[in-house]
Amino acid sequence: MSFFKVNENCNGCLACVQNCPASALNYFDEKDSRKILHNMSLCARCGHCWRVCPQDAVEFKYLLTGRFDLVKTLDLVHCRVCGEPVYTVSFGDTVSSSTKKDVEALCPDHKGSKPVDVWKKLASRRASQ
Ligand code: SF4
Ligand code: SF4
Repeated sequence: MSFFKVNENCNGCLACVQNCPASALNYFDEKDSRKILHNMSLCARCGHCWRVCPQDAVEFKYLLTGRFDLVKTLDLVHCRVCGEPVYTVSFGDTVSSSTKKDVEALCPDHKGSKPVDVWKKLASRRASQ
């Protein structure tokens, strides 16, 4: 989702387009409508469009609040001993296909541990809870 939004106050004056130092704003008139365009890859996030807009129509809050946008959700593989997340299913598939080996679903704590060591670790963890 774009951080740059123009709200319903916009009257199409083009002050933002004409004052953008990065040429990240543009417009075109087509039949009965004017369309304002924004290019994220050119935008320098300087906020000048927001400052010059006489209508208070440029909403820059998404940049100013510095939030994170969710871009991807992936399924996780968990350690088969303690249940800690260790890697994503697709990462495991990538490694398996390039190494031609199955990837063990074990976290760093339990990788290479003998079953009795794992049992001892789990028992001491439970005792401390
Ligand atoms: S300066 Fe503001 S009102 Fe003018 S076109 Fe840009 S967003 Fe719309
Ligand atoms: S933030 Fe700056 S670079 Fe981006 S569109 Fe507005 S004026 Fe242009």
